[in-house]
Amino acid sequence: MLGTLYIVGTPIGNLEDMTARAVRVLREVAMIAAEDTRVTRKLLAHFDIHTPAMSYHAHSGPGRIAEVVALLREGKDVALVSDAGMPGISDPGQALVAACVTEDIPVVPVPGPSAIVAALAVSGFNTDRFRFLGFLPRSKKERRALLRDSLLGADTCAAYEAPHRVTDALADLADLAPDHPVLLARELTKKFEELKRGTARDLADMLAGAEVRGEIVLVWPCGGLQTAPDEDPLARAVAMASHYREDGLSTKDAAARAAAETGASRREVYQALLNGV
Ligand code: SAM
Repeated sequence: MLGTLYIVGTPIGNLEDMTARAVRVLREVAMIAAEDTRVTRKLLAHFDIHTPAMSYHAHSGPGRIAEVVALLREGKDVALVSDAGMPGISDPGQALVAACVTEDIPVVPVPGPSAIVAALAVSGFNTDRFRFLGFLPRSKKERRALLRDSLLGADTCAAYEAPHRVTDALADLADLAPDHPVLLARELTKKFEELKRGTARDLADMLAGAEVRGEIVLVWPCGGLQTAPDEDPLARAVAMASHYREDGLSTKDAAARAAAETGASRREVYQALLNGV
């Protein structure tokens, strides 16, 4: 008999968000694999849970995954928890889940809070379809390319961002789409929860020079990409195609995509790329 890996959601700030099922499962399993055992021990103490915990984090490596899989193979149930929210979303949990799926070990979700879902739900933007961008890239070039791409798509977008980088991310968004609405959701469910709504430019200006703290989700709808009124449509298409090429598309595909999105001539865009314009 194989054990079961339970993926247990835990509060993202407010301990009242812990579900009764999460408490029961954490009490019943043989072992808790935790992103940070110090963080998890506080949670376990609060809910009077006495199950042993082992660390499972980004630097654990394949050895730790093998240890957890061995426990499950012995028939022991294991619960995976992250520091906060749903494990397996933008955290090391995904690799352990993938290993269990490969080994045919049952994986059972015990859903709980998730910062991204909470932020989307209060955004007021269209949530019929959304695109989760994870943590935004650290490199300015990559971040701008991704933000530009996000505005060209058809879905509302949401991303995690570190507090010391959020000002730069908003400045990039403001350069691309100054009048576009954005929600900055900070410290959700915590004492100093803050929902700042405004245009990308408003929020970028508000944060410029300020020291931002806490945990942050950014949400913005699709569209809004602004180009200078006198910008040559071919130049705009070539700039877009260059981004697509940097993202890994072939010159031909990049030209075709940018041409389709701007109405420029595919042949002219392709030729301009070849000429290194
Ligand atoms: N696996 C978790 C989930 O999605 O539920 C999140 C893991 S991710 C490593 C942590 C990021 O989520 C933080 O850096 C922050 O961007 C966001 N986050 C977590 N808690 C938050 C909160 N209370 N308010 C706003 N954002 C939060």
